[in-house]
Amino acid sequence: AMHRAAPNIYSGPLLEMVDGLIPDLKTLAGTHHKAAIYIANGHGAWEAALANIVAPGDKVLAPATGRFGFGWGEVASALGAEVEMIDFGKSDAMKTDQIAEVLRADKAHKIKAVLGTHVDTSTSIKNDIPALRRAIDAAGHPALLMVDCIASMGCDRFEMDAWGVDVAVTASQKGLMTPPGLGFVFFNEKAAENRASLPAVSPYWDWVPRANPEMFYQYFQGTAPTHHLFGLREALTMILHEEGLEAVLDRHAVLARAVWAAFDVWAQSGPAKMNVSNPAERSNAVTAVHIGAPDGTALRDYLSGNLGVTLGIGLGMAPPGDPSWHGYFRVGHMGHVNAHMILGTLGAIEAGMKHLGIAHGDGGLAAAAKICSGK
Ligand SMILES: *Cc1c(COP(=O)(O)O)cnc(C)c1O
Repeated sequence: AMHRAAPNIYSGPLLEMVDGLIPDLKTLAGTHHKAAIYIANGHGAWEAALANIVAPGDKVLAPATGRFGFGWGEVASALGAEVEMIDFGKSDAMKTDQIAEVLRADKAHKIKAVLGTHVDTSTSIKNDIPALRRAIDAAGHPALLMVDCIASMGCDRFEMDAWGVDVAVTASQKGLMTPPGLGFVFFNEKAAENRASLPAVSPYWDWVPRANPEMFYQYFQGTAPTHHLFGLREALTMILHEEGLEAVLDRHAVLARAVWAAFDVWAQSGPAKMNVSNPAERSNAVTAVHIGAPDGTALRDYLSGNLGVTLGIGLGMAPPGDPSWHGYFRVGHMGHVNAHMILGTLGAIEAGMKHLGIAHGDGGLAAAAKICSGK
């Protein structure tokens, strides 16, 4: 879809195509409110959302369940916000009761927003966003609920309006199957009112013209990212109009269960263990694994060097330079994946463990194949 000549950026089909992207993006996010597109990666989308919510000196609460939770808090801090981090560790979902307690203690309602992470890609923890909303409401606190859905959108169910999310952030290169370079921010009326109360917002990050463009260039505050948009158009067509969102979510759920089934078997007599033990707190997009140093790096190197499979590094699990850094890897199962890719990846992992002499329970790949067979 992207491999084509440059289009006219002033009139014609590109302009109509972009108008049509907006309703599809909103459908994907489960919102009837506003959408803004940025030429940015996920870090840019974080900054875009925060630039419209926090002014220097404002306070935000950032519950973290991995590297990305901290990363989002760090962006808020760099923008001048006072950030209260709550570290929920690297293996369990956030405890929403504890968040409610912190909010209850904030009698003056100084906390302007809670920065939630739906799926933290570093740990593969999936957080319960409706429960986070209930915690904010139970505390009677007016804070906005902002959610990072960069890893989860299009893979794990996310329903912005039904779940009471005020601002949702995502990017093109994960579940949306488009190269890195587009960031998306969805926001409701309450968030828009917050934006209106800020003394200034940097013009590039301001979501007002992007979400309400009077002229085409305002969608992007300049030249449109033409070819990314063609890619995104095709991705949204595949997700919403060809396979269908429910079928896409079901496919991710089955493939994730196949991955977990393989690791359950391998873990019976070997060092490879999934990072998240409670299946309800695991993402359908990615699975983080601890295998012990140096086997994580050895396995990744063997697979990329010999079997044509690139596994993810263990992100944020150990400091780079620390020998234990080599004890982790991640399996991505987000976006454009099907059973043959996942079974191929799992088969390559099994072959790699055999080649390297890493102990593992027998029959992991067979267990995954059984899940994919529907039996
Ligand atoms: C990938 C990711 C990010 C960062 O996105 P970049 O495009 O790498 O800047 C942030 N949050 C989550 C949950 C992610 O998965």
